[in-house]
Amino acid sequence: MHDVLIIGGGVMGLTTAWELAKTGLRVAVLDRAQPGREASWAGAGILPPGHRGDPNDPLAPLLRRATELWPEVTDALRDQTGIDNGFRRCGEIQVLEDPARLESDLDGWRINGVRAEPLSAEALRDLEPAASRDVPAAYVLPDACQVRNPWHVRALGEACRAAGVEIVCDREAVGFHMSNGRVDAVRTAAGDLSAGAFLVAGGAWSGEILKSIGRALELEPVRGQMVLLKTPSPLIRHILEIGARYVVPRTDGRLLIGSTEEWVGFVKQNTAGGVAGLVEFGRRLVPGLSEATLEACWSGLRPHTRRGTPFLGAMPECSNLFLAAGHFRAGLHLSTVTGRLMAQAIRGEEPELSLRAFAVNLNRQPDRQS
Ligand SMILES: Cc1cc2nc3c(=O)[nH]c(=O)nc-3n(C[C@H](O)[C@H](O)[C@H](O)COP(=O)(O)OP(=O)(O)OC[C@H]3O[C@@H](n4cnc5c(N)ncnc54)[C@H](O)[C@@H]3O)c2cc1C
Repeated sequence: MHDVLIIGGGVMGLTTAWELAKTGLRVAVLDRAQPGREASWAGAGILPPGHRGDPNDPLAPLLRRATELWPEVTDALRDQTGIDNGFRRCGEIQVLEDPARLESDLDGWRINGVRAEPLSAEALRDLEPAASRDVPAAYVLPDACQVRNPWHVRALGEACRAAGVEIVCDREAVGFHMSNGRVDAVRTAAGDLSAGAFLVAGGAWSGEILKSIGRALELEPVRGQMVLLKTPSPLIRHILEIGARYVVPRTDGRLLIGSTEEWVGFVKQNTAGGVAGLVEFGRRLVPGLSEATLEACWSGLRPHTRRGTPFLGAMPECSNLFLAAGHFRAGLHLSTVTGRLMAQAIRGEEPELSLRAFAVNLNRQPDRQS
């Protein structure tokens, strides 16, 4: 029997599994398809340099710690698997449509100890000659990073296997067997899987997974569409961002343009309007993209919580069932710290950062099943 069974092999499940296995626990990860092929694959891999805004926001210390952990996690994965996850400091330029926001944005980063510098039109041209000149205001975050998230989840999967984690693919969790306020086993079509403790890390599907035991999470999928372009050589070096949309340059001339926010349920498709809007946005920001080749487009489902923060910790009234879900647009960034903290909580240790603000609250459902 395993010590811990993790449902969901996205970046949250795999990072937590790796952290647990490093301390000698016997861990299994169950995924209804192949691990790391949902939101954790679809994302852009932007890793902001920390938190912007109120430093007393409970997310601030998590974002800071997540940022600190990325170089360490990257080195450890490379040492253990030989896989480069593409983590690098590329810097990010934030373009503001409303110049009046410049000072408050800069203050919001600096108050959290993050470097943020305003850019004059000349400075922007020097940093990114291919960017549009028609920019009302801009600033740079020199310490912003990026990761090639498909490479990262592949490295995590390999590191998990090397640490003895059993990864069970193509097997869906359809319910739980419970007794005396504890989960005894996860039900699947191919039989039950028992363990000492269980973690639900099912991304946007976490609410569906918990419905089977009558727990209703306020968590929903939000679709994000993405477009991949290719130019013969890199046009830009920094991530360029306006509000919720961005262009992310890879070193090989590829550029990701993202992303939409669509409340369309569990529908993972691209639409003509979504793709056209992203391409048009990219062309406005980097006019030379008109000549780029369109390589691919895809979409992913972000796990969004109505309260705006993820659920991290033990499930109420169920002492050996844990939840790590609802990271919405920041899940890749927060995965390093989430895996560390969830492993500590599951081992029964006091997490190095408090999870109190992220405690699971839920609505009860009448159709309880076990
Ligand atoms: C378009 C887009 C762009 C993004 N860009 C960024 C970014 O730049 N930076 C950033 O930090 N974040 C970004 N994100 C957010 C980030 O990708 C997510 O927050 C994060 O990947 C969520 O990870 P997860 O492991 O919780 O979920 P997922 O990666 O979705 O993994 C959930 C896993 O659970 C499995 N599963 C579901 N149901 C079951 C079941 N019943 N039984 C067994 N297995 C099950 C699924 O198969 C899947 O493998 C982006 C997301 C999208 C969609």
